[in-house]
Amino acid sequence: MDFTFSEREEAFRKEIEDFVDKELPADWVEKNIYWPAGYGTLAQFEELSPQVEQFTRRLAEKGWLTISWPKEYGGAGLSYTEQAIFHERMSYYRAPAGEIATRIGGPTIMLFGNEEMKKEWLPRIARGEVRFWLAYSEPNAGSDLSSIQTRAIGDGDDLIINGQKIWGTAAHVSHYAWMAVRTNPTAPPHKGISLVIVDNAAPGVTIRPMMNICGFYSFSEVFFDNVRIPKRNVVGEMNKGWYYLMVALDFERLAIPIGGFRRTFEEIVQYARETKHNGQALSQEPLIRNRLANIAIQIEIAYMLFWQTAWMLDRSLVPNIEASLLKLFTTELSQKLANTGMQVMGHYGQLEGTSKWSSLYGRVCLGCLDCISALVGAGTSEIQRNIIAMRGLGLPPK
Ligand SMILES: Cc1cc2nc3c(=O)[nH]c(=O)nc-3n(C[C@H](O)[C@H](O)[C@H](O)COP(=O)(O)OP(=O)(O)OC[C@H]3O[C@@H](n4cnc5c(N)ncnc54)[C@H](O)[C@@H]3O)c2cc1C
Repeated sequence: MDFTFSEREEAFRKEIEDFVDKELPADWVEKNIYWPAGYGTLAQFEELSPQVEQFTRRLAEKGWLTISWPKEYGGAGLSYTEQAIFHERMSYYRAPAGEIATRIGGPTIMLFGNEEMKKEWLPRIARGEVRFWLAYSEPNAGSDLSSIQTRAIGDGDDLIINGQKIWGTAAHVSHYAWMAVRTNPTAPPHKGISLVIVDNAAPGVTIRPMMNICGFYSFSEVFFDNVRIPKRNVVGEMNKGWYYLMVALDFERLAIPIGGFRRTFEEIVQYARETKHNGQALSQEPLIRNRLANIAIQIEIAYMLFWQTAWMLDRSLVPNIEASLLKLFTTELSQKLANTGMQVMGHYGQLEGTSKWSSLYGRVCLGCLDCISALVGAGTSEIQRNIIAMRGLGLPPK
């Protein structure tokens, strides 16, 4: 396996750099407090939404929101490696580069949706016109997702939905719920679930804010009271949703902001070089050098895993275990990076960006809080280890 970029890939990487240089506000990268793999600090993208929307429009015009999609659906028709190069660079610059509709919903529709659904949704997603939120979890269904209770009952050409979802990240700033519902209550749990698309603006949808650990409003609990949707909004076949969900979850686990790790690490290393303690730079302290070296090694491993998944996708191999490996490894790295940042900065690391004594815009302080969410969302670390044990090692389910 050789991950050296071809001339064409190098040229594409340069084109992305030039684009970011021209289109992203000058102070964006420094001031954006997004913590790699965290959910809570994502809220900042909403606060800055006019800039995000303009940037997203420019990406859509270039076909870059959907790089590896076929041109007929509004994609750029490029390889998965080129898509990975794009996401690596975008996350390095903390740039908004598509979200659930482009990275999870669209690819799942492409695999399982019928032609009518593809024509209705894919071009709109590629143009960046629609935002989805993930409506999977319920108060009594998280890791054990197959126990969802939200019901959808057929009524002519429609389905009527009743129930509650929780932890819906960005639900309040999205247009549609990408949602798991129970359509057959008498079948075994995995066989009675369907995947549907629900308009946030439909009568009967109530979105209530929840504050996250960082103090931002980033997710919601959402109630569905006799909400009517057309049956054509069912993805693929009715009651086959569990299978589609597993694939959609892999897409989610592969959507790692890999460049963000390198960028944040570089900033912490720079801080250690420039900051003196007892007359010498922090970077000369053996303990700090040791900790930074440990993170450097893990970032290299994370990159290898990341390029490996793109390499597999380009060869039509399915990175299923690899998706769990990547998710688990990088989210635990998110926490180690935050802890290392705090160890390097000492008490200064605990200051929020609003303090005049803070450094790195208070990013490490928020990161220490936000990294906890990384270990939970998209399936907890324990669940990823279970998947690796069962599907990777072939161990029996417990
Ligand atoms: C910041 C954040 C954003 C989120 N965004 C979304 C979103 O947009 N949409 C959405 O649908 N959901 C979202 N979630 C929900 C998330 O997917 C669930 O929290 C997660 O799947 C865990 O479910 P739970 O909270 O019900 O915990 P539980 O499933 O009750 O788990 C509790 C603990 O038990 C452990 N555990 C459970 N089962 C097993 C097992 N079989 N083996 C070993 N250990 C186990 C878990 O690892 C965990 O430590 C979000 C969560 C967070 C924290």
